[in-house]
Amino acid sequence: MAAELIDGKEIARKKQDRIDAEVQKLKAEGVTPGLAVILTGDNQASRTYVNNKQKTCNKLGMYSMLIELPESVSEQELIRRITELNKSDEIHGILVQLPLPSHINEKAIIETISPEKDVDGFHPINIGRMMTAQDAYIPCTPAGIIEMLESIGADIAGKHVVVIGRSNIVGKPAGQLFLNKDATVTYCHSKTANLKEYTKRADILVAAAGKANLITEDHVKHGAIVIDVGMNRNAEGKLCGDVDFETVKHIAGYITPVPGGVGPMTITMLMHNTLKAAKYSISKI
Ligand code: NAD
Repeated sequence: MAAELIDGKEIARKKQDRIDAEVQKLKAEGVTPGLAVILTGDNQASRTYVNNKQKTCNKLGMYSMLIELPESVSEQELIRRITELNKSDEIHGILVQLPLPSHINEKAIIETISPEKDVDGFHPINIGRMMTAQDAYIPCTPAGIIEMLESIGADIAGKHVVVIGRSNIVGKPAGQLFLNKDATVTYCHSKTANLKEYTKRADILVAAAGKANLITEDHVKHGAIVIDVGMNRNAEGKLCGDVDFETVKHIAGYITPVPGGVGPMTITMLMHNTLKAAKYSISKI
C-alpha cells in the first residue's frame, strides 16, 4: 500500500483527551457542559447516532439530555421544546437529529435554535459567520476533516481541493472552510459532467456523495490526499465509503478508511462545539 492511512480514531482519541481536560477545568469552576439532543420518530440510524453522541458526552464528563418525541409531534411542540432549551442554564448545546418527520419544516426548526447553542453549526447565522471567516460553530463533519488534515501537517493554502457533494451539512461548508484556508476549491455534484476530469486534478479530494465505489483509482492523482466521508452499505451489508479503498490506496499519498476515518472526527467535533458553547456561556456572565 502506497498511501499512508489517516487514522481518524486515533486523531479523535487525542482530541477527546484534550476536550476531557478542558471539561474537568470547567467543572472545577462549577460549569458542566450540557448537550440536549432531540430525537423524533423511530429511525434506527438516527437512534444509533444519538446513542453514540450521548455516550461520548458522558465519557467526557459532559451532561447529556435526550428528548424523544413521537413521529407525530407537531412543529409547534418541537419549537416549544427548543425555546425552553434556549433558556436553560444547564444546556449549552442543542442538536435536533435530522431527518425530521416530513410534516415538519426543517428550516424553521433550525432557525429556532439559538445561534449561541447551535452546536451543529446549521443556523444561517453560523453559516454566514463561517462564510465571512468569523468565529462560528462549524458543522462537525467539515470541521473534523480540517482537524484531521491539520493533525497530519497537510498544507492547504494554494492546494487544489475538489469536494464531491454540495449538501448544506457536508459538501458546501467543507469547500468554504478550505477556501477560508486559501485553497482553490472545485465543487462537483450529481450534475457534474466528467467527474474524473476534476477529481484527477485534486491535491486534496473530499468524497461526500453517499455512493459506494464512486471514486476508483482512475479518479485520483498520484500522491493526493483522499478523504472519504461517505457512509454506505455494500452488497454484503458492510459499512463502506465512496472511495474504492483497495485500489485507491495504491495511488493516493494519504487516505482515510471507512469506518475509522471521518466518522469518529464528526462526533468529536460535536463535543468540541459543546465545550465551546459552555465556555461562551461563562464569558457572558
Ligand atoms: P446528501 O445526499 O445530502 O448529498 C450528497 C451530495 O452528493 C449531493 O450534493 C449530490 O449532488 C452529490 N452526488 C450524489 N451522487 C453523485 C455522483 N454520482 N457524482 C457526484 N456527486 C454526486 O448527503 P450528505 O448528507 O452530504 O452526506 C454525504 C455522505 O456522507 C453520505 O454517505 C452520508 O452518510 C455521509 N456522512 C458521513 C458523516 C460522517 O461522520 N462520516 C457525516 C455526514 C454524512
